[in-house]
Amino acid sequence: MAPVLGHGPNGDPETQLVESRVLIIMTGGTICMQHSPDGLVPVTGFLKEAMAPRPSFNDASAPVQMHAYKNGEKIILDSLRTPPTAYSRHVRYGILEFSPLLDSSSISSIGWTEIALTVKENYHLFDGFVVLHGTDSLAYSASALSFMMTDLGKPVILTGSQASIFALQSDAVDNLLGSLIIAGTFVIPEVCLFFHHTLFRGNRTTKVSASAFEAFDSPNCAPLAKVTSLGVDVNWTLVRRPTRIAEFQVTKYIDTAHVACLRIFPGIKPEMLDSVLRVPDLRGLILETFGMGNAPGGVDGSLTRVIKDAVERGIVIVNVSQCTNGFVSPLYAPGTILGRAGVVFGHDLTTEAALTKLGYLLAVQNLSYSDITAQMAHSIRGEMTEMTTPSFSHPDGTLDPTLVKLTPAEATFAALGYAVQRGELRNVCEMLEGKESGHQLLKQADYAGNTALHLAAMSASPDIIKELLTRGASVHTRNSANNTPLFLARRTANRECVELLENAGGHLWVDERARSGASTPKLVDEPPSRPMSPGQ
Ligand code: ASP
Repeated sequence: MAPVLGHGPNGDPETQLVESRVLIIMTGGTICMQHSPDGLVPVTGFLKEAMAPRPSFNDASAPVQMHAYKNGEKIILDSLRTPPTAYSRHVRYGILEFSPLLDSSSISSIGWTEIALTVKENYHLFDGFVVLHGTDSLAYSASALSFMMTDLGKPVILTGSQASIFALQSDAVDNLLGSLIIAGTFVIPEVCLFFHHTLFRGNRTTKVSASAFEAFDSPNCAPLAKVTSLGVDVNWTLVRRPTRIAEFQVTKYIDTAHVACLRIFPGIKPEMLDSVLRVPDLRGLILETFGMGNAPGGVDGSLTRVIKDAVERGIVIVNVSQCTNGFVSPLYAPGTILGRAGVVFGHDLTTEAALTKLGYLLAVQNLSYSDITAQMAHSIRGEMTEMTTPSFSHPDGTLDPTLVKLTPAEATFAALGYAVQRGELRNVCEMLEGKESGHQLLKQADYAGNTALHLAAMSASPDIIKELLTRGASVHTRNSANNTPLFLARRTANRECVELLENAGGHLWVDERARSGASTPKLVDEPPSRPMSPGQ
C-alpha cells in the first residue's frame, strides 16, 4: 500500500491515511442555485463557494491539483479532500462543471450523453463519480444513464437537493457528503441515486415529493444502501455487478425524441390515442394504464384497434402501471386484450425507466422490432423484477472451524482459496452457486486483502478467472498491498489471464505501472493508489 501522507490544518504530518478519488460532475439544479431577479438560477464555482468553506468537505490540508479530461482535452482541476471518513480514508475530489449549468427540467439526451462521456473519459482516473443534478428530472437521468452505461465497474451516484446548499436549512450537505463517501468507499458498480440517507438503484426511482427532503422512492426495489449513525449499510445481495468480460462502454444519444408517454383515463377517446400514435416518426409509446395493466377497449373495441394498427405500423407500445407499487400483467381481460394487440408488458418498470429504456434500445444499432420488444420485457440493468429462482447456500466447506479457529465465512473462503489454487473449477463453481453466499464469497478477502479473483490471478487459472468475472467479481478491487488482480496476473506472465482481466476493464494504477515496468497508456494521470477493500 502506498498511502498518501497528508498535512493537518496546522501543518503537522497526519496519520497516513489512504485517499480515494471521486470526480463530481456538476450539471446544475437547486443544489447550486442562488436567488436572482428571475428566481432561483444555478451559479458556477461550487467547489470554491460551497464546498471549500465547509469543514465536512475540506480538511484544510495543502491544496492539490489533479488531472481530468473534458471533451477530450486534458485539464487541471483544483481538488479538496474530506476529513477521514468512518472507513479510515479521505475522499479527494474535484469538480467538472457543465456550461451552462441547467435547471434539470431542460436536460435531454444531449446532456445525458455529456455526463456519460465525462464518466467514460475519466473512468481510469477516479474510483467513483458523483453527478450533481436537479431533482425534477433526476429519476429520468438516473434511468437513462443506467441503460447508456454497459459493463460499468465503478459507482456512478446521482444526487441533488430540495434546497440550495447556500440555504440555512438544506439537505444538500447530507446528500452530497453521503454520495461522496459511498462513491469513494464502496465498489457498487451501478448508476445509483442517493437522497435522504438512502442509496437507490437509479432506474428504480421516481420523484415522490416536490418539497420534502425524502423526495425519492424506489417502490419496487429495496434500497441498495442506507446511511445510519453506525455507517453505511450496503445490501450487497442486491448490488449488481458486470458479469461479462467486456470493457465499460457508453451508448450516446438515446432516442427519447421519438417516444411518447400517455396516461390512460376514464373516457379517453380512441382519436386522442390515435393522434399521438400518428405523430410523424413516432417509434414508441409508454402507455400508463390502470392497476395491473388495464385500459378501456373503447366502443366496439375501437381503442384496441387503434393500438393494434400502431403495433402493425412498427410502433413499440409498452404497458406500465399508473400505480406506484406493483406490476402489470395479463390478469384481467382488458390487460390480456392489450397483450394480444401486441402491447409489451413492462412488469414493474417505472415510467422513467420504461421511457429511457425504450429510447436506449431504439438507439442501439441493428436491433429489430422483436429484439426491442423482447428486451423491453426483460431486465437488462436491474430495472424490473425478474422471476425469482430458488437458491441454496453451500455448506461451510471442508475445514473444521473449531480446529482452525476460523469463522464459518473465513473457513468457506479458505476452502474456495484452496480450490482456486488447485485449479478445481468445478469445486469453485459449486461453492459460488448460492446467490447470497456466492456474492458474499466474490467480495470476501483473505488476511492480505486478496479476493478470489486475486487468488485466481496468482494461480494463473484463466478458466477460474473467467468463471469469477462472469459471476460478477470486480476487477477494480485492490488487496492490502494495493494490487489489482491484473497486476498479480502480469507477474505470473500468464497472457490469457492478463487478457481476460484487461478485457473485463481491468487497468493498472500509476504505482502498479511503475512497479511492473509497464508502458504508460493514453490516460496517464491516475491518482496515487489506495485500496478499495472488497468487503466495503
Ligand atoms: N428545478 C430544479 C431542477 O430540477 C429543482 C431541483 O433541483 O430540486 O433543476
